Amino acid sequence: MASNGHSRASVRTERQVPPTKASGGGNPPARPRASSAKRSSRVSVDDDNDSVRVRVAVRVRPKNTEELNSDFADCVELQPELKRLKLKKNNWSLESYKFDEVFTQSASQRRVYEAVAKPVVESVLDGYNGTVMAYGQTGTGKTYTVGQLGKNDPSERGIMVRALEGIFANTTAGSDTVTISYLQLYLESVQDLLSPEKTNIPIVEDPKTGEVSLPGSAVVQLNDLDHFLELLQAGEANRHAANTKLNTESSRSHAMLVVHVHRSFGGKKENEVSSLSDGTNDNLASHHVPHILKSKLLIVDLAGSERIDKSGIEGRMIEETKFINLSLTSLGKCINALAENNPYIPTRDSKLTRLLRDSFGGSARTSLIVTVGPSAQYYSETASTILFGQRAMKVVNTVKLKEEVDYESLCKKLEYHVDYLTSETDRQQKLREIEREQMEKKLKEQEALIVETKIFVSKYEYLEKQKNHWELEAKKLLKELNIQKNENDRLSQEIGHLEENFKQIKELESSTHQKILADMTNTYQKNIAELINQLESERSHCTNLEEQLSVMKKSLSDNIKSVQERIVDDLARENSKLNEIATSKIQSLEVMNRELLMEKERIVDDLTRENSKLNEITTSKIQPLEVMNRELLMEKDFLNKELESLKDKLLDEERQRRCLEGEIVKLKKFLIDGNAENGSKRSHWAENSTSSTLPFENPSKSHKSRESVSAQKDTISKIFEEVGLSNILPLLKSEELDVQIHAVKVVANLAAEDINQERIVKEGGLDALLILLEISKDATVHRITAGALANLAMNGSNQSLIVSKGGTRLLANIASKTEDPQTLRMIAGAIANLCGNEKLHVMLKKDSGIKALLQMMKSGHSEVIAQVARGFANFAKCESRGIAQGYQKGKSVLIEEGALYWMITNSSTYSASTRRHIELALCHLAQNEDNALDLIRGGGIKELIRISQDSSKEETRNLAKKALDSNSSFSSEMYTS
Ligand code: ADP
Ligand code: MG
Repeated sequence: MASNGHSRASVRTERQVPPTKASGGGNPPARPRASSAKRSSRVSVDDDNDSVRVRVAVRVRPKNTEELNSDFADCVELQPELKRLKLKKNNWSLESYKFDEVFTQSASQRRVYEAVAKPVVESVLDGYNGTVMAYGQTGTGKTYTVGQLGKNDPSERGIMVRALEGIFANTTAGSDTVTISYLQLYLESVQDLLSPEKTNIPIVEDPKTGEVSLPGSAVVQLNDLDHFLELLQAGEANRHAANTKLNTESSRSHAMLVVHVHRSFGGKKENEVSSLSDGTNDNLASHHVPHILKSKLLIVDLAGSERIDKSGIEGRMIEETKFINLSLTSLGKCINALAENNPYIPTRDSKLTRLLRDSFGGSARTSLIVTVGPSAQYYSETASTILFGQRAMKVVNTVKLKEEVDYESLCKKLEYHVDYLTSETDRQQKLREIEREQMEKKLKEQEALIVETKIFVSKYEYLEKQKNHWELEAKKLLKELNIQKNENDRLSQEIGHLEENFKQIKELESSTHQKILADMTNTYQKNIAELINQLESERSHCTNLEEQLSVMKKSLSDNIKSVQERIVDDLARENSKLNEIATSKIQSLEVMNRELLMEKERIVDDLTRENSKLNEITTSKIQPLEVMNRELLMEKDFLNKELESLKDKLLDEERQRRCLEGEIVKLKKFLIDGNAENGSKRSHWAENSTSSTLPFENPSKSHKSRESVSAQKDTISKIFEEVGLSNILPLLKSEELDVQIHAVKVVANLAAEDINQERIVKEGGLDALLILLEISKDATVHRITAGALANLAMNGSNQSLIVSKGGTRLLANIASKTEDPQTLRMIAGAIANLCGNEKLHVMLKKDSGIKALLQMMKSGHSEVIAQVARGFANFAKCESRGIAQGYQKGKSVLIEEGALYWMITNSSTYSASTRRHIELALCHLAQNEDNALDLIRGGGIKELIRISQDSSKEETRNLAKKALDSNSSFSSEMYTS
């Protein structure tokens, strides 16, 4: 459909490159970065370099249930190995057709894709347009082949999904883009399936490129395959909805998926451009020019190709079918025209043919799959489908590479290059500036040198002039000298003459003229003498001049020398100065070095001396040390042996300890058994309310129980003897409560014996018991520990220790927290014992001992109260003794603490023993006059009178009488009342 008159010229560089090998199967060719050499290996056998025939495959749908149940025979028979299809009109008429590919009913979706669509997809990736189209009667599997989503079973995926899969696998997310549009053509109206509100989308052809576009249709850029699947599904839903609204079926519309693939090549990354700097700019213009491949893949699911008359439809349906057929008929016409190489192709007759302009007779690689049903029932449709396919096989397209220069990348690249060059220029400029500065500096230095040289030269010239002047002078003098010399010579000659004359004259002396001659001679002699004098003076003058000349010469050469020397001297002076400094420094360093060496030698000497001394000392010390060492080694051996034996002993002790623990367990058992034996009569003190071992009470006991208790005591004493107190006391700290309880029981029992009381305290038993009382949370432990303390408190020397170590406070604290009468009895007993020691009264008060007694009294338990009463009696007795002996004064602590009222009101309430103790306490309080007022106010007189008459003890009665008689305030009170 390309021959519609459009120019093929294009701004695009539509290079006509050899197309991809169109045959199905085989390995996919290399990706587009492949060279054109590679592309040329894919030339179709039956095509020219850029001409490629439309490939046509036929697929037969499996029989559906209806067909399986019907009587119709099959009208198609396939020979896949020969790629042939035989169409049976009846038993005696059969036609055979050859296709590019023949797919049987069992052909897989994958095989269909690979043979039909994959070469087209690869070609699209290589930068060519491509089309895959399904044609056939409704219900023969066009949508199944092309549009199946395969959501649940990926093997069912149709060509659309697989094509996108292939595109994603071969494109790069960053540099390449994949966009799609999905459209439906129905009744010659294009609707957007991705944006269903868009209908009647116009088809626009670019007059220059001939490219068809659908302005306004949604173009969605894909992220990944899932995105595509979503869009496709939405598109299908929209197609279904649109068709429901229009009261038609999807089989009546043409669906068209347009995939645009843009791939960028050749543009080097910006950081790679640096390599350009070393190369020439030709690089930039040649193979580094970035380009884009802009190809398009069309996948078309055509409407059913059946004829209308068959179904006998009317009205709108006829209209519709007319339109469908308009499109399909016009497609058929175009294909016929192309197959027959007609000059005129009626592309413009329908929208479908306009949209498929590039696919048939255009620049795209096209694969057509025609679908047929097997049943003879639809023979005529099948036949027409097959004929359509056969004609399409004759259509030849001219594929063109859709390549463009990527001006955007190129621009970016050039910009980067320009930037790079600019910065490079800046850098070079900077370098040159630095160089220039350096040169200027050097120039200045040279200029200074020239100035210096000039000065030197002018000096030299001056000297040269001087020299010339002096040379001239010298020459002049020489000349003068020569003249003088000549004069001298002349004079000498004259003298010679004169001497000859003189001789002649002498000879003439004898002659007559002798006298005249003599005169003349004298004159001459005078003249000669004068001349000689003159000569002498001339000579001396000459000598002077010579001397002067030599002086001048000397001074001249001296001058030259001095000027030369001065320059040399200046340098030499600087040099010598530096040398001097260096020498002086070196000298001082040498001096220092010498000093250091001397110091070093001295230190080395000292050290050597020290060392030898130390060596001597060491040697002298080492010897006895070695002796000692030997001794120590021996001792060590001995100690090791000792240690071994100690270890053995320890092991023995450990064994003993274990035995002891066993014994304790046995004892416990024994105690329990003993208790069981004694039954209700009398039990061990710790387990029962009364105790034979507690000395603060005198419970009535049966003979039997006494025997049993003494047997227990014996056992405990035996254990004590065998095990030793030192081994029992640590058990008080045992982690096991059971062991702790039994250990404290043993200690409590031992403490009942006078002989053990001091020993227990001495061996740390008191401390251990107090700690136990403080930290243990166990009521039994509290009870027995309090009992043990009560027993220890019987001993006078222990009492102060118990109080000073804070025992009172601990006991008072436990008393305040418990209601157990046995524990209270033990505590009250212990404090009662302490009350018998007057030295401890202050501490007892301070540590709340008296308060604790008063508190415990409220428990109402007779045995507890008995102990409280005993305590008060002890306390009062001690106080009255102190008053009597004069070391104590003032009101009783008991009264201060508020015990008086209780004593007065209860003196006759309790058991005999309690009563006795209260009475005794009251009587003793009454001995102190300072207590009188309180006693009177509290009604004590009446009680005293009663005691004086009724008390069971005579001693008490006497005490009461004595108080009543001796105290005057009591007597007067008695009279008034
Ligand atoms: P068309 O789109 O041509 O009208 P469809 O693709 O809708 O036909 O197919 C009609 C029915 O036949 C569908 O149920 C489809 O699943 C089934 N079908 C078509 N081709 C095949 C095949 N090759 N294998 C299995 N089922 C098929
Ligand atoms: Mg369909």
